Amino acid sequence: MATLSLRGVSKRYPGGAEVLSAIDLEVFAGEFVVLVGPSGCGKSTLLRIVAGLVEASAGEVWIDGARVDDREPGERDVAMVFQNYALYPHMSVRRNLGFPLRNAGVSKAETEARVRRVAESLGLSELLDRKPAQLSGGQMQRVAVGRAIVREPKVFLFDEPLSNLDAQLREDLRSELKALHRRLGITTLYVTHDQAEAMTLGSRIVVLDGGEVLQSGAPLEVYARPSSRFVAGFIGAPAMNLLEGRAEGGVFRLGPLEIRGAPVSGPVILGIRPEEVVLEKDAGLELAIREVEALGNRTLLTCPIEGQSLRLTLPGGASSAVGTTISVAFRARDLHWFDASNGERLGVGRGDQSNF
Ligand code: ADP
Ligand code: MG
Repeated sequence: MATLSLRGVSKRYPGGAEVLSAIDLEVFAGEFVVLVGPSGCGKSTLLRIVAGLVEASAGEVWIDGARVDDREPGERDVAMVFQNYALYPHMSVRRNLGFPLRNAGVSKAETEARVRRVAESLGLSELLDRKPAQLSGGQMQRVAVGRAIVREPKVFLFDEPLSNLDAQLREDLRSELKALHRRLGITTLYVTHDQAEAMTLGSRIVVLDGGEVLQSGAPLEVYARPSSRFVAGFIGAPAMNLLEGRAEGGVFRLGPLEIRGAPVSGPVILGIRPEEVVLEKDAGLELAIREVEALGNRTLLTCPIEGQSLRLTLPGGASSAVGTTISVAFRARDLHWFDASNGERLGVGRGDQSNF
């Protein structure tokens, strides 16, 4: 198994702004890292730099202890799966799967055996004689994944491979990819804009925005202690409430809301996740319900507060009507504080605001 390292990788397209600024990223041998960030933040650019399809403006790419920047894509021993499948339309599934091997001079018998094994592991055995046009989206993406696996590369690169699939297929293929990684243990860098995909797939997630790595950690670690306002709003759905108020003498105020434990004075952002707002009689914060979204397994309420909104989730079937009033409370351990000017996390974090 191989390690993948990016060291100080920057990219500026001709005539454009800098897309990546001195990115350092290490994917350890056998690790599954998900790089997640909004559309346009440079995820595909970064993967293409690793694959050798785009040249970095500065920095180094190392695979398995060797610097590969000067190597052709075919000599880097990486396999990339794209969002749009990129299959050869005139070739059968069998030939699509075997193509990288024949290209690399693997014998016919060995190619056949490996194609058969990969097809079996991805449920493609019955489809080997079909052409891509005769496949569903999910089947095409399985072939694309198979074509990457068949080479047994040192590193797998995935660029939003599930984005073109409908929700059910996306979930199916997501768990298949996870199982596949457990079985093969190949070092993987997976890119997505979908935070749910990142949370469920990655053993580690790396949040990218503005050309920089904002945070890297186990999915639940990032969820529990987002390092900035941006990460707090991006990871977790529905998104964390980020309420802008003012603090004085440790007390945060926003209209009827008063909370002790603010780590600074002046403007500050209070974060609380919708699933951590609790209903509590006579808690002191009475809010009117403006919107009710019944999702079946839970109900999402939106309440206005001083021109901002507080969202909270209740169990499915909870009876709440627009216009009625609820009384809510926040628990000290669920609060997050962020700097109002630069968005950075304040204080030592979760669990330390004991003076609520
Ligand atoms: P992501 O995959 O995160 O959506 P991309 O890496 O595709 O982001 O793009 C990052 C930025 O670089 C975008 O602003 C995009 O318009 C720009 N970009 C991407 N490819 C090129 C290119 N070949 N030439 C110029 N600009 C590009
Ligand atoms: Mg992209």
